[in-house]
Amino acid sequence: MTLLLIVLSIVTIAALAMRRAPLWHWAVAALVIGLLAGAFAGGFAGWVAALLPGVVLALLSVPQIRRVLVTGPAYGFVKAILPRVSRTEQEALDAGTVGWDAELFSGKPDWQKLFAVPKGQLSAEEQAFLDGPANVLCGMIDDWDIRHNRADLPESVWRYVKQQGFLGMLISKEHGGLGFSAQAQSQIISRIASRSVATGITVMVPNSLGPGELLERYGTPEQKQKYLRRLATGQEVPCFALTGPHAGSDAAGMRDVGVVTYGTHEGQRTLGVRLSWDKRYITLAPVATLLGLAFHLHDPENLLGKGENPGITLALVPAAHKGVVIGRRHFPARSAFMNGPTSGKDVFIPLDFLIGGPDYAGQGWRMLMECLSTGRAISLPAIGSVSIKQGLRVTSAYARIRRQFGLYVGMMEGVAEPISRMVKSAYAFEAARSLTAAMVDDGQRPTVLSAVLKYQSSEAMRARMNDAMDIHGGRAIQDGPANYLLAGYINIPVAITVEGANILTRTLITFAQGALRAHPYLFKEIAAAKNEDKRAGLTAFDEAFAGHAGYMLRNIFGSFLHGVSLGRFAATPVEHELDWCYRQLSRYAQSFALVGDWTVAFLGGELKARQLLSGRLADILSELYILSATLKRYEDDGRPEEDRPVVEAVARDAFFRIEQSFAAVFANFPNPTLGGLMRFLVFPLGRHARPADDKLNLGLAQAVLKPGAFRDRLTVGTYVSLDPMDPTGVLEDALVKVVAAEAVEAKFIRAAKKGIIERRLDRDAIADAVMAGVITAEEAQVLRTADEATDRVIHVDDFSSEQLQRIESQREPQHDAAE
Ligand SMILES: Cc1cc2nc3c(=O)[nH]c(=O)nc-3n(C[C@H](O)[C@H](O)[C@H](O)COP(=O)(O)OP(=O)(O)OC[C@H]3O[C@@H](n4cnc5c(N)ncnc54)[C@H](O)[C@@H]3O)c2cc1C
Repeated sequence: MTLLLIVLSIVTIAALAMRRAPLWHWAVAALVIGLLAGAFAGGFAGWVAALLPGVVLALLSVPQIRRVLVTGPAYGFVKAILPRVSRTEQEALDAGTVGWDAELFSGKPDWQKLFAVPKGQLSAEEQAFLDGPANVLCGMIDDWDIRHNRADLPESVWRYVKQQGFLGMLISKEHGGLGFSAQAQSQIISRIASRSVATGITVMVPNSLGPGELLERYGTPEQKQKYLRRLATGQEVPCFALTGPHAGSDAAGMRDVGVVTYGTHEGQRTLGVRLSWDKRYITLAPVATLLGLAFHLHDPENLLGKGENPGITLALVPAAHKGVVIGRRHFPARSAFMNGPTSGKDVFIPLDFLIGGPDYAGQGWRMLMECLSTGRAISLPAIGSVSIKQGLRVTSAYARIRRQFGLYVGMMEGVAEPISRMVKSAYAFEAARSLTAAMVDDGQRPTVLSAVLKYQSSEAMRARMNDAMDIHGGRAIQDGPANYLLAGYINIPVAITVEGANILTRTLITFAQGALRAHPYLFKEIAAAKNEDKRAGLTAFDEAFAGHAGYMLRNIFGSFLHGVSLGRFAATPVEHELDWCYRQLSRYAQSFALVGDWTVAFLGGELKARQLLSGRLADILSELYILSATLKRYEDDGRPEEDRPVVEAVARDAFFRIEQSFAAVFANFPNPTLGGLMRFLVFPLGRHARPADDKLNLGLAQAVLKPGAFRDRLTVGTYVSLDPMDPTGVLEDALVKVVAAEAVEAKFIRAAKKGIIERRLDRDAIADAVMAGVITAEEAQVLRTADEATDRVIHVDDFSSEQLQRIESQREPQHDAAE
């Protein structure tokens, strides 16, 4: 009977916890079990012990009693330990929306919510622009000329970019822009960046966080009227200046200041702002005609009626305005896009230069964060994902064309391994790029997920570009017009650093801020704790606290039960050969919810400082998100059989890394007992995930080393030239010819091995092979065509010493002259 009661209690507790039953359900269950236990135990003491839990729970079910006994004391305690949130942080938290990130934090993701995000698609007009002007622009680009000879785009490219409206993709049609969706912007930037990073960045910046978007959202009717059409058509070139010498990552700590005062503007005494700024690293500043500026606004005489320190404020200042200094150029990663400093001292601007007018004075940080939550979802993920895809496109061709030891190098296992990594990343990051852009088009402003995607896609770009470089060997190191990889490689740190440097984004923003934003109860608890009306705060806190307790219990039991069953019974929305991926993902989401919750509760205000832990939790959240996107892409694409191994391999690797990150969190948790308890709940039977095995990985590499639909799908969105004289077209041309010649080549190689023919520089071995009857004249032609194409591919550039020295000597006088 005792055993029966124990089993009954455990099953009941687990069932109630998993169903997140309200407290009175717990009370009823405890009373029923108590009655059974009391009848069995007998005696006064036995009855008291058996019924006590049920009575206590019944009392706690009454909110008024619960508030006095539990939530009230907890309120004060939690208030003291909750992470402190500054005004700028609060504005950042308030800026975006939560969606799938909140589902993952909930521990029980509702897959239908993810599936409900429409598949990323373009309108007919957007598709026509991508196939038309975007491709034309790519065809006009000579990246070597841009990055090496000019350190600028040629005039023809600038003109085309402006005329076709590339700089105003996000500006609405009503205001003369293209009014394109986030998906279209992302794909167009991807296409251009796959051809030239410098051109991609030039187009990206006005379409990212900057004057265009700020005006669309917050501009006064007069400002919209005055600027948007001119920005859309490139008559105005914008830049946005936030960063200064003393304020990089901590942008809100800027020293730039504006003081509200009277001054003279256009001959009139005008109320305005006396502005001083010193900004650096500003993209497009050297050619900008319109400067977006962020600064702290002070109003000592309270002329605006918003107090002495309204806060961060944004202004639009024409570059030609008196006192504006546009500095010389920086030379970021030796790239050709425009970037430089700007400054001004006591420059007087009228109030109507403030974006949104005086009403928006002091709202600047919130405005920037709002724009960043969507901007960060579009631009840098486009560049990150396309760099991976483009790297795969050229490397898969090169590894099939380049032969060493009588074999194409991609056939060698050592080379196939990095190729398989490129395949997996190309699939997964295109999936995440497309999904996140689709979320924006669906009306979301995904602050947390855009941060995840920004840092993960640029980190993956860094890793995969290294793979591409390694596989190309010297071919990618020797710079010149024929080198299609080095420019992207050198520019990697730009994407890593801008729009939130990656280390900070991973360790501070993704989890530490993400938890506050996407956790189902934390945000509410903090808001309740901050409520100045103590009674209302306590009521709200009580509600959130009760929910939080249920959430915690469910995660405890859920993690443990999924742990002992190795996730076999976790939720899946599909039934097919990959349903185990969904089950495992659901399992780890529940464990993430448990561990994340306990970490926040334990660390409290220390969370932001314990970045090793929050970084690992950020990695788990990222893996969960990118894998969700991967699974959704597979469904959206109609589950192509050819793609299944990629999805499986991505999932296996992700689960392996997730387990590694969990293990590192448990091993390093500041409280070893809690760390051990979490390890027990999450891995009661130990760790079982294994990364994709060699067979699976080698299969992926072999599948991409030939022209075809699989390779095209993996590299979708890149600019593809078929012109053998083009830097990358040469690869596409040769790949087809080399694959077509392979049967003939096999005969040729066999003959060479037998010593029938000899490959030497002073002999025409193909002619010898025809003479020796190894191949026919027609086959010889096929082989020659492939050989010629291969020669073009393996060609690298060379220069005279004078050419190289001339480049340096030209640059120096320009530098001095500007001084
Ligand atoms: C090519 C280029 C173009 C740019 N374009 C623009 C532009 O158009 N407009 C504009 O306003 N700005 C622009 N920037 C500035 C860019 O946003 C900053 O470079 C970025 O914010 C990082 O600042 P920082 O370089 O001063 O690095 P720092 O802030 O000095 O950071 C140094 C390192 O410390 C890390 N770090 C800092 N704080 C934390 C923390 N709390 N926790 C963990 N790690 C932390 C960072 O991740 C980084 O790795 C551009 C920069 C570059 C390089």
